[in-house]
Amino acid sequence: MSITSLSYAAPAASAPLAPFTINRRDLRPKDVSIDILYCGVCHSDVHQARDEWGGSKFPLVPGHEIVGRIAAVGPDVKGFKVGDTVGVGCMVDSCRSCAACQEGVEQYCEKGFTGTYNGKDRHDGSTTYGGYSNHIVVDEAFVLRVSDKLPLDAVAPLLCAGITTYSPLRFWKVGPGDKVGVVGLGGLGHMAVKIANAMGAHVVLFTTSPSKVADAIRLGAKEAVISNDKKAMSAHANSFDFIIDCVSAPHDLNAYMVLLKREGTMTLVGVPDKPPTIEMAPLVFKRRHLAGSLIGGVAETQEMLDFCAEHDIVSDVEVIDIKQINEAYDRMVKSDVKYRFVIDLATLKAA
Ligand code: NAP
Ligand code: ZN
Ligand code: ZN
Repeated sequence: MSITSLSYAAPAASAPLAPFTINRRDLRPKDVSIDILYCGVCHSDVHQARDEWGGSKFPLVPGHEIVGRIAAVGPDVKGFKVGDTVGVGCMVDSCRSCAACQEGVEQYCEKGFTGTYNGKDRHDGSTTYGGYSNHIVVDEAFVLRVSDKLPLDAVAPLLCAGITTYSPLRFWKVGPGDKVGVVGLGGLGHMAVKIANAMGAHVVLFTTSPSKVADAIRLGAKEAVISNDKKAMSAHANSFDFIIDCVSAPHDLNAYMVLLKREGTMTLVGVPDKPPTIEMAPLVFKRRHLAGSLIGGVAETQEMLDFCAEHDIVSDVEVIDIKQINEAYDRMVKSDVKYRFVIDLATLKAA
């Protein structure tokens, strides 16, 4: 028996999200069915619901920061039982045999991972639908364990914003003694501030929003700089070991490259819809690195959830009724969210 699920979908790139009914597949042997409690609202949802990256398939049900409880398990499920509290992030499958999958970095699957939404199911070719919905069916290999002791609405954003910032901070071995810049205080940026601070780094936040300076310090930054203040920016020239850029819209990267030390690295996690212009001199003359990073693998996502539980880190959230989703998108585009919208799926009821 497939499960009929209520959801919210974007019917087209230019149309607001609206109620939409979908069928979740019958459980395959290793599938679990999850009753969704909360789903975070990522800027990638906005980019894709509005087809800003190209390639969106409509109707599109966004949502990849999912927390819920297991309602049923397939006959071959080993790791989970009914009632367990679990999470699902940006991926629901991958090829599982390429070098990347074998090394546990499924996000870099050479055949392409299956996205939680706007992806293509590897078995039946259907389009995947995400977490703005009251159920989801997922192979257990892509399901994470979540501690019931944490506030589950505030845990949901860890499944994308948390892992997307944790993974590069780990890969580039950020730790005590490092000076780390975080660009943009949104969903990703505020997680980067908290996690880099917990890793022992000296964190400096760069923002376009003067109203966020006090919050940046409260969240764990030692300093906050208004990025259009040229004097304040130049005071940090040649001083950063690592910078993580979490900005969703086109902006000048060169202003940050010159803040890196010799051989420092700036990693892009934000994915604006237009490419940047890169000046060569700041890179070449100081052997600086410009890099990118994509979410994180399944094992690393579990490691991040455990790290956050140990360090008491959750997201700062504004919990919304699903009917407020279009307003939430408009506010997010204006950088007006403190610091992640999370949908309470109990508000999703049959019309
Ligand atoms: P968000 O909550 O909207 O935060 C983006 C922040 O960027 C804003 O709060 C704002 O911070 C800053 N910003 C916005 N417009 C700007 C502009 N014109 N110039 C300079 N700064 C600006 O978005 P998010 O959910 O954190 O996502 C951020 C980006 O990461 C998106 O592009 C998203 O698609 C991408 N993403 C990538 C991955 C990955 O795996 N690489 C994963 C998830 C998301 P201030 O107000 O502080 O300036
Ligand atoms: Zn995301
Ligand atoms: Zn693979």
